[in-house]
Amino acid sequence: MRDVLILTNGQEEHHYAARTLRDRIEDLAGTDVRVEIREVGQEGMGSWIAWIRERLGKKKDAAEKLLKWVRRTNEGTFGKSRWPQFRRSVALALDEGTPELVIFFDLAVGLALQERVGDRTEAGFQRIGVALEAENVRAWEKVPADLIWTADEGPAAELKHKHIPAKEVRAGGWPVRPEFVCRERSEAKGKPGEPFRVLYLVNSRRRKALRTVERLLKNRKVRVTAVVGREEELKADLRKAFGVEERLTVRGWIKNLGALIREHDLVITKPGMITVREILAVGRPVVLVEGGKKAEERKDMCRLVVRLGCGALADSPGEIAKRVEAALEGGGVGFREWRRRARKESFRAEGAAERLAETVVQRVRAASTADRLPELRLLPAPAAGQKQLLMVDLHCHSVYSDGRMSLRELVDFYGRRGFDAMAVTDHVVDKGCLIGRLVDLTGLVMTMEDLPEYFRALQEERNRAWIKYRMILFPGMEFNLDGLTAKRSAHLLGVDLKEPIDPGMKLKAICEAIRAQGGLTIAAHPHHMTSMWGRDTLFLWERQEEYQPYIDAWEIGNRDDLFNPVGLKRLPFIAGSDFHKPKHLTSWKTLLFCEKEPEAIKACIRENKNVSITLFRDHRFGWVAEEKRDKIQSTAVKVGGWSRT
Ligand code: ZN
Ligand code: ZN
Repeated sequence: MRDVLILTNGQEEHHYAARTLRDRIEDLAGTDVRVEIREVGQEGMGSWIAWIRERLGKKKDAAEKLLKWVRRTNEGTFGKSRWPQFRRSVALALDEGTPELVIFFDLAVGLALQERVGDRTEAGFQRIGVALEAENVRAWEKVPADLIWTADEGPAAELKHKHIPAKEVRAGGWPVRPEFVCRERSEAKGKPGEPFRVLYLVNSRRRKALRTVERLLKNRKVRVTAVVGREEELKADLRKAFGVEERLTVRGWIKNLGALIREHDLVITKPGMITVREILAVGRPVVLVEGGKKAEERKDMCRLVVRLGCGALADSPGEIAKRVEAALEGGGVGFREWRRRARKESFRAEGAAERLAETVVQRVRAASTADRLPELRLLPAPAAGQKQLLMVDLHCHSVYSDGRMSLRELVDFYGRRGFDAMAVTDHVVDKGCLIGRLVDLTGLVMTMEDLPEYFRALQEERNRAWIKYRMILFPGMEFNLDGLTAKRSAHLLGVDLKEPIDPGMKLKAICEAIRAQGGLTIAAHPHHMTSMWGRDTLFLWERQEEYQPYIDAWEIGNRDDLFNPVGLKRLPFIAGSDFHKPKHLTSWKTLLFCEKEPEAIKACIRENKNVSITLFRDHRFGWVAEEKRDKIQSTAVKVGGWSRT
C-alpha cells in the first residue's frame, strides 16, 4: 500500500481540486494507493474558536462578533506569528500519514514541507506542487518540489527558464471536476433570432443583484437565469420585482452546475463562487464581477480572464450589462471570439485531472526503482552497482510473533537509522507437535495459517522500505524446533523467502525448501548463551557435521552474546540483534562489503568473504536503561521456557 497525502489550506478551489484528484487517483490505482486529504493551517483557528466560545458562554452575539474579527485577521496571507503553528500542522500530517508522495496547492505548504525535509526527522517523500492560480508564478520559483504542475504553458515556460529548486515543471492543465468537462464535440451555432442565454450566479447584495438583472433584461435578445443558492429572500425579491417576465428564471440551489452552464452562452459571476477555470472548462466565456472583500485575493482570476481573452471584467450592474451588450454588437463578433478562446481552454482542461492522477500514480509506483534520497546514511553510499560497506541485521521480530513493533514501525526504526538491509524473521511453530501447540497458546508465535497474511504484509513493507529508506527488507521466518531439552532444540532462520514454508517438515527439508526459494539458512544462537534467560538451542551444534551442508551461516553473535566456538570451528558466520524491542538495537550486527542488492548480499554471506561483525550502539535514543521484562514475556516463560524471546 502506498500513501498519497494531499494538503490543502482552506481555499475552496484547492478543496475541489483535491477531491477531484483523489477520486481520479483511486479510480486509476484501485486499492494499491491510499489517498488522504488533510487541511493544514486551520487547526489553530479551530482552537481559537473553541476558546472564544468557551469564554463567552451564552453571550452569543458577542461571541459571533469576536469570531468575525478572528476570521478576518486570519484571512489572506500568513502572518509571521502563525508560521510555527502552521509548520507544526504540516509536520503532524506527515507523521500521521507517512506518505510516499505529497501534493500541495499552496506555496506556504510547499515551504513548510521543505523545512520538514530539511529537518531530516522524516525520510523522503516526493512532492508535487500544483500551481492552480499561478497567474503570478514568480512565487513558485522558491518552492522545492519534484514536480510543479501548472494549468497552462505560459507560467510553466516562465518557470522553466529560471533556475528554480523544483526538478520539473509541466503544463498539464487545471484538474476540473468531472461535471465541468466539456462534452460538446462540435461548436453549437446559435441561430439568428434565438435568445442569448445568460447565467447569472448571484453572489452580491440584494440591491446590486436586482439592478444587474434589470439592466441585463433591457436587452431584448437576452434571457437570464439567476442562481441565488440558499438565499430564499433574494429569490422572493426577484420574483416580486420581475413577476411575469418570461425572460427571467430564478433558481435556488443547483446540484449540477456544470450541466446548467452548458445550457447557457455566457456566465456572470464573482470570482470565488466557482472557479473561473471550471466555467472555461465547459467552454463558456465569463464576465467577472470585480470588487468586494476578497478582491485582492481574487486578482489572479481576473488576470486570467484578461490574459486568456475569454471574457471581461466589470464592477457595477451597468458595466456588466454594457459588456454583454458590446459583445453582442455587430452580430456577436466579440462574443464569438470569447467563445472561441474559452473552447480552446476547455480542450486544454479536458483530461487534465486524469493526466495529473496518472502522473501521481506512476510516480508513487515507480518510486521503488527510482534512485532517491537516503536520509541518514551510516556509511557513505557509492554509486549504484559498486561494492560498499553495508550495515545489515538479519534477525528481527515483529508483532507477528513476540516482537513489540509492527512491521511498519520496524521498517521506520531501522530505516531512519540508515540500515542497508534487514530481515524480519518472526517465529513460526508446527501446531502439530505437542510443544508447538503449547507455544501457540501464548499467541506469540505464528502457525502455518498466519503465514499468508504475514508474507503479504512483508511484501508491502518491503516496497515501502526501499522507496522510503533505500533499505532492503528480506521476508524471513524463524523456525522454532523446540524439543524438551536444549540438545533437541533448534532455531533456524530462513532469510529472503518468497512464500510460506511448512514448519511441520523435518529440519533438513525446511533447509532445502528455504534454499529452493533462493533464501539463506542461518543457525540462530547455536551455542550456549550466557546473558539470556531463554533456553539454549544446541541441536544443530551437536550435529554440526551432519548439518553443515544445509546451513549457510551460523550466528557468531546474537544480541549481547558471542559464540567463540563458531569462530574456532571456522564456520561461516553472521551476527544479528534478535531484535524484539528498541533497546535490542544495541547489539551485534553484520557489516558486509558488497553491492547493495539482495542477491549480492546473500552471496556475500554464503561465501563468507568480506563479512565482519560490529557492536552497534545507538546514541540517538537512550535505550540503554534496562527495561523490566514485561508480562508477555513472563507468560512465555511460564508456558514454555523453551521459546526464546
Ligand atoms: Zn530464536
Ligand atoms: Zn529470534
